[in-house]
Amino acid sequence: MSTVNGGISFWYAQDGTPAPREPLPGDISADVCIVGGGYTGLWTAYYLKKAVPFLNITVLEAKFCGYGASGRNGGWLYNGIAGRDRYAKLHGHEAAVRLQQAMNATVGEVVDVCEQEKIDADVHRGGVLEVALSPAQLARLKAFHAAETAFGETDREMYGARETADRIRVTGVVGSSWTPHGARLHPVKLVKGLAAAVEALGVTIHESTPVTEIKPKHAVTPYGTVRAPYVLRCTEGFTASLTGQRRTWLPMNSSMIATEPLDDAQWESIGWDGRETLGDMAHAYMYAQRTADGRIALGGRGVPYRFGSKTDNDGRTQPQTIEALRDILTRFFPQLAGVRVDHAWSGVLGVPRDWCATVTLDRSTGLGWAGGYVGSGVATANLAARTLRDLIKEDSGQSGPTDLTALPWVNHKVRKWEPEPLRWLGVQTMYAAFRGADHRESTGHTATTDRVAVLANRLSGR
Ligand SMILES: Cc1cc2nc3c(=O)[nH]c(=O)nc-3n(C[C@H](O)[C@H](O)[C@H](O)COP(=O)(O)OP(=O)(O)OC[C@H]3O[C@@H](n4cnc5c(N)ncnc54)[C@H](O)[C@@H]3O)c2cc1C
Repeated sequence: MSTVNGGISFWYAQDGTPAPREPLPGDISADVCIVGGGYTGLWTAYYLKKAVPFLNITVLEAKFCGYGASGRNGGWLYNGIAGRDRYAKLHGHEAAVRLQQAMNATVGEVVDVCEQEKIDADVHRGGVLEVALSPAQLARLKAFHAAETAFGETDREMYGARETADRIRVTGVVGSSWTPHGARLHPVKLVKGLAAAVEALGVTIHESTPVTEIKPKHAVTPYGTVRAPYVLRCTEGFTASLTGQRRTWLPMNSSMIATEPLDDAQWESIGWDGRETLGDMAHAYMYAQRTADGRIALGGRGVPYRFGSKTDNDGRTQPQTIEALRDILTRFFPQLAGVRVDHAWSGVLGVPRDWCATVTLDRSTGLGWAGGYVGSGVATANLAARTLRDLIKEDSGQSGPTDLTALPWVNHKVRKWEPEPLRWLGVQTMYAAFRGADHRESTGHTATTDRVAVLANRLSGR
């Protein structure tokens, strides 16, 4: 059997695409209109409807719920949040620690709601293990470990090569850092379960309904317009396709492969009984999970950005990206050299100019948005949704400020990306620098690599 390329994602090949919901029937009114049916939009609908059951909430989705990154991701439900260090600089260390603590708690929140709503998303709470494979990666790992600890993660553990191998046998590993604040899940089972839970609460979802323009109190679609005091943009990597948003968040690609199910002898040789989500310390890092049905699903950056903020076609990815991911797989686990790759796919995530996730409600217009999670959105979308709920409750006089509305990522402002071709050139240069640095590190040259990558980070505004 050859590799299936695209088809949105392996998760859909496994779990099936959902039966379509009706498009918007014409002009309607609502109390809250949510644009985008991924984790951000659906969690927001969920928490708002739970908090204020009489609210009339409409979700508009261009394709079907979970069509975007929420149906394609690596299933790392973890406590990472893009921009924490910058928020520490802007608002002080204590504020960033509160943000980190909120993220730590979010992992448990998602797991708890899955249990309450009977969403079986193959959740396994094994934490996150990040490994180092070279002296340069080990130096970064130690710095990373120290930084996370300084932000309050006192339960994080550092392992040497041998202790790491007791958990998972990655070839060439020299150390690792583990946090309990993470779980593996099946992205599509979560997004489907969430959409069903939201509908059961009485939220209306219209699919096959692309919004062409968002303006105060209006979401415009080819089927009609939704008028609502609050219109929330939850379109992450697709945001550039909306009128006036071309340079707001850059759509960054991430690609994945899923192997055939491994047999018992292969798992015996690898270990990984704890089913931690697995990552490394390369500049162009990889991420992986052991799936519930015994495969390895592994991702990385691939071709990072397409000219003009183009997005992929139903998840199709480039052959060279599939090969690059397979190379990582066999570098980590050489015994899997002959293993079949059943599926390859890609998706887009949203990257703001300063690489900081944000959640915003503009009180003067009633427009809100959340995203820019830069690849750490599975848990962050949940925190963003609860924060949007609190911001709307506060704005509509139903409650005062809360701990969530006081977090430093709320109402953060950032400038737009440069026009093309600068945008494209900037991202290509940055990733070429990262790949070059990773290559030199893998061949034992460590002296200049960090300087090059740090410079690339500075240039890119990271
Ligand atoms: C390959 C890949 C792997 C990843 N792995 C991880 C991971 O392991 N852990 C992690 O934390 N994060 C990961 N991420 C990031 C994470 O998946 C996203 O940050 C998160 O899913 C974003 O959710 P969202 O709802 O904001 O956006 P999306 O899930 O992209 O949802 C946006 C929705 O809006 C719809 N839409 C777009 N335009 C319009 C429009 N004009 N009108 C109406 N609807 C519209 C889309 O069809 C889509 O359904 C990964 C991302 C990718 C692509």
